[in-house]
Amino acid sequence: MTSSTIQPREAVSSLPVYVAGKPAASAEGLTPFKLSSNENPLGPVPAVAGAIAEVDTLHRYPNPGAELLRAELAQHLQVPMEDIVTGTGSLGALTQIINTFAGTGADGVQDEVLYPWRSFEAYPIVVRTAGAKDVQVPLAADGRHDLDAMAAAISARTRIVLLCTPNNPTGPALTQAEVEDFLAKVPQDVVVVVDEAYQEFMRINDPVDTLALYRQHPNVAVLRTFSKAHGLAALRVGYSVAAQPITEHLRKTAVPFGVSAVAEAAAIASLRHMDEVLGRVERIVEERQRVIAALAEAGWTVPEAQGNFLWLALGDQALDFAQAAGVQALAVRAFVGEGVRVTIGEPEANDRFIELCRTYSGGPMTALTE
Ligand SMILES: *Cc1c(COP(=O)(O)O)cnc(C)c1O
Repeated sequence: MTSSTIQPREAVSSLPVYVAGKPAASAEGLTPFKLSSNENPLGPVPAVAGAIAEVDTLHRYPNPGAELLRAELAQHLQVPMEDIVTGTGSLGALTQIINTFAGTGADGVQDEVLYPWRSFEAYPIVVRTAGAKDVQVPLAADGRHDLDAMAAAISARTRIVLLCTPNNPTGPALTQAEVEDFLAKVPQDVVVVVDEAYQEFMRINDPVDTLALYRQHPNVAVLRTFSKAHGLAALRVGYSVAAQPITEHLRKTAVPFGVSAVAEAAAIASLRHMDEVLGRVERIVEERQRVIAALAEAGWTVPEAQGNFLWLALGDQALDFAQAAGVQALAVRAFVGEGVRVTIGEPEANDRFIELCRTYSGGPMTALTE
């Protein structure tokens, strides 16, 4: 082997590698289930397959600005089309925002991007790739954002703050009152991104109304995706909603033709059957409530789960639990030394997960709020 002299940028050489959820290994007599990527087990609504089959322009480039999808979204969300920017998944939309507003300044000093931690593991990768400095603010003990600590961590260098509600992987959602309070403490020139990948799954009294906030605050950007509630993760389509001072710059950093014609047609079809989409979401929410009740009965404490997943704060037992799940042909997502995130899946998968929790030899953990 010759050693190569090709070296990546320093910011890249120290990056963590994104760990995608693994499929379950099969076990004797058991159907394997993947509960490690927060995918929608019910898939897209039937109309999506028809819409995809009708796309007859595969030899052409798609709409450069996904105009048809943006027009549909504008109507659906009651916002101007100009305020919507699509991306290759909401991760693509987030990358546009980071690349636009944070990096390394002309003076060599890095901009800061603040976010809660643990949260979505793509955040450090996107932020550091842009050349910005990430500032991670630890979650409170119950898995919620520590918004006071986040406000206190804002410096003159802070360009962007990321909020994740419901928070992946711990589950709690932010309330409107909490976020309004927080925004009052954030300087006007700091962009506040609210990542709402699981927005449709929230069932709390005072959920954050991000569209109302974006109408009042020109520094708020809302991030949404078709990957979760709509069951279109394979097609990679998401978007941001923000006022013109933000969106006019985002289009410059977007990868051209980032949303394919197939993805655009599928997303439009799904939006036109929103009742069905929300019906499927409701089935998953009901399963979530069933699993949580069963776990509580077995002595487990889990943080408020407002997405299509729940969090077991297993600490040092995280890897052991994930291995025990693997033996049952369930793939779950372990964060070594911290906990395990488990997606709400098919009823059979959820039953097997409940049984695993009942019998897990490591025993129920109630350490989270202690
Ligand atoms: C799944 C997820 C996304 C969505 O990613 P896509 O790129 O739209 O598939 C964004 N944010 C969080 C917190 C997620 O969990």
